[in-house]
Amino acid sequence: MTKHLPINADHEIIISGAGPVGLSLAIALSELDFNCMVMCKEGEFEPQKGDFDGRAYTITPTCWQMWRSFGITELLEPFVQPVSKVEAEAASFAPLSFDLEDAGEEGEPLGYLVEAHAILASLWKKAKAAPNLTIKTHQNLRGIETHSDRAILHIEGEKEEYACKLLVGCDGRESFVRKSVGIKYPGHDYGAKGIVATIKLDQPHNGVARQIFLQGGPFAVLPLKNNMASLVWTERSAVADSLMALNDRDFGLELREKTGDFLGEFTMHSARFAYPLKMRVADSFVSERVALAGDAAHAVHPLAGQGLNLGLKDVATLAEVIAKAAHVGLDIGSPLALEPYEEWRRADTVSMAAGVDILDKLFKAPAPLRGLAGFGMSSLGKSDKVRSILSKEISGAEGSQTPQLLKGEAIRF
Ligand SMILES: Cc1cc2nc3c(=O)[nH]c(=O)nc-3n(C[C@H](O)[C@H](O)[C@H](O)COP(=O)(O)OP(=O)(O)OC[C@H]3O[C@@H](n4cnc5c(N)ncnc54)[C@H](O)[C@@H]3O)c2cc1C
Repeated sequence: MTKHLPINADHEIIISGAGPVGLSLAIALSELDFNCMVMCKEGEFEPQKGDFDGRAYTITPTCWQMWRSFGITELLEPFVQPVSKVEAEAASFAPLSFDLEDAGEEGEPLGYLVEAHAILASLWKKAKAAPNLTIKTHQNLRGIETHSDRAILHIEGEKEEYACKLLVGCDGRESFVRKSVGIKYPGHDYGAKGIVATIKLDQPHNGVARQIFLQGGPFAVLPLKNNMASLVWTERSAVADSLMALNDRDFGLELREKTGDFLGEFTMHSARFAYPLKMRVADSFVSERVALAGDAAHAVHPLAGQGLNLGLKDVATLAEVIAKAAHVGLDIGSPLALEPYEEWRRADTVSMAAGVDILDKLFKAPAPLRGLAGFGMSSLGKSDKVRSILSKEISGAEGSQTPQLLKGEAIRF
């Protein structure tokens, strides 16, 4: 028989992981008056201690709307660069570009670029001030028991256990929560790494995000505030490792050699970081007493800048599903309550992951197929209708099944 420690059962929902998805969900749930706790493995995020991971995120207007309704975008205002246009080019093929007119959303840019550390700092600030929300740092979750009425969490070195109706795993790709409840995470590795770094451009970027499909993979230059830009250079792992071993000067020379006039004059502004690229979608986003959100549920190639945006859609959907379940008196951790979340989010995630995967494969294919991809791209560039559909996809414009938070609205029943 298992011997239990005293149980702290003060929280309806416990979120494991204080990344951008976990904190956004915590803020959303606290606004809905749920009594919630976030557990994080590390301490509080402190940008002044140099917690910089090199990444900058393109946030779609719909996800931005949700953050606006939480009061997060006003904290991000000094750090954000709106994207007015996206230009994609397949080496020597005709260019394809999307601009504000194509997206058709009045007054909204195609997306918003912000560095990851500014996002985390703003989310931490908001979460610490949120009512009904407890944040516990340095919590190493080492066991989860799920029962028909609650989940019990065992924390390393703690003198008590925690109980909740619902546990949400927002603990990233290596999710302990997902593994503990036995949900599989199939997919494949791209055998490639994304090298990210910040550069200072000589010429004004005018808010244009640019992507070129090189043989090793896509290469993106994403506009940041103060005429900076974030580079995402995808290369086969062995090549990426060699590039990472170069000093700044030689790296800069390689960059110029690969991209020709694409970047213009620039200087390196930050350290470089390399991320192995994977495609994974969890077999299920829910199990009894447990839901998964963000990278714990899916990982996609960064070429379309959608990973975090998918996680924020999970947040908007899960918050709405839980709130509606509670409103009609359902147990929020029961399979019946969580089923709509799985239905709503999994299909969208699979289609996005597969779409990005096909694009990546086409541009890395042998010459004749790559030619087809390039031909497709130049034909796409000539069709207003197709461009409009694609730019709506990029900017995250949604259909009728849009969760209310993504429309910038409060959740109504
Ligand atoms: C090169 C690159 C560029 C990208 N660019 C974009 C982009 O432009 N736009 C976009 O939308 N997405 C982008 N992404 C994807 C984006 O980085 C991820 O989708 C996003 O970080 C996922 O957030 P998350 O909160 O789910 O997970 P994470 O950011 O991984 O956070 C997980 C958190 O859980 C914590 N944790 C882990 N284990 C435990 C545990 N056992 N207990 C408690 N806490 C735990 C971790 O410490 C961390 O704080 C990019 C990714 C890469 C690699």
